Amino acid sequence: MKVFYSDVHALHQPLMFLKAGQLVPNPETAARAHAIAHALGGAGFELVAPTYQGLDAVLAVHDTGLVRFLETAYQAWARLPDAGAEIVANTHPGGRFRHRPESVIGQAGFYTQDAACPIAAGTWQAALAAAGCAADAALAVMGGAASAYALCRPPGHHATRSQAGGFCYLNNAAVAAQLLRRQFKRVAILDVDVHHGNGTQDIFYDRSDVFFASIHGDPDGFYPFFSGTPSECGEGEGLGFNLNLPFPVGSGDAEVMRALASALAAVRSYAPQALVLSLGFDAHEKDPHGAHRVSTAGFMAMAQAISALGLPCVAVQEGGYLHEELGSLARDFLRVLSGHC
Ligand SMILES: [Zn+2]
Repeated sequence: MKVFYSDVHALHQPLMFLKAGQLVPNPETAARAHAIAHALGGAGFELVAPTYQGLDAVLAVHDTGLVRFLETAYQAWARLPDAGAEIVANTHPGGRFRHRPESVIGQAGFYTQDAACPIAAGTWQAALAAAGCAADAALAVMGGAASAYALCRPPGHHATRSQAGGFCYLNNAAVAAQLLRRQFKRVAILDVDVHHGNGTQDIFYDRSDVFFASIHGDPDGFYPFFSGTPSECGEGEGLGFNLNLPFPVGSGDAEVMRALASALAAVRSYAPQALVLSLGFDAHEKDPHGAHRVSTAGFMAMAQAISALGLPCVAVQEGGYLHEELGSLARDFLRVLSGHC
């Protein structure tokens, strides 16, 4: 299994993270990706730098305004008198109000969902390189590879068509799925990150050619709070092609495997020709950020069950925060997923 990985991600070093009203260090660190890359390299996986050029694949799933904002806002921000080190919004549009202001402070609120997506000098380059990894992984599968893995950092599944959020700037899984659609008539995205993939749902919500299924902690008590309920089934042509399967906060192997079994049954009945796996490790019992209790053996069972779909698969890294087993967990999961266990 080829691994697409760019060390450009290390230019993105977010500082700000608000947790229950307290400023704490941001857990979406470069060390996460370094740990996974190190474990994969040591296990004989082939790590390849992305070569995808251009913005076509990104603009196919994102609003041009968001993309231009991410690309250029930091320069405008840095010119503000007394600007902080990172772009973090202090106001967001509410009610019916959707005026897009000229001010970079206002645009920060317009193009972000929350305070968990700070933007600094290297953020755009890192986000673009992550999207490039996802694009190249999709192209590898389109070229005949059974599977490929995009070690994306920053992650992507909380980025909607027009807003960054939750450590995510560009939706890497959506970039991969949209590219796969050039070759495969029906594509499924399975999101096993412990947080609902609200951004991916947003992008494909009115489409029937990309089926989205997500298993995640119940949004009644867990980020992203405002989406991820079973009542969100898609709309228009997409009605019936969006499936949310929340499990209670604090769940372990049994509850997560039950949700996964339902998701896999739905994917099978959709009969896709290719799969994008939004792969988060933050449901793991040792994850410092999550509140769930999935064991390493539970993750291996998940990998086995997903692999049994027998579909060409692009795995895209989402969440999963640093602990001593993160690298080996990713390595072992990908071995099982790619059938080389
Ligand atoms: Zn997550």
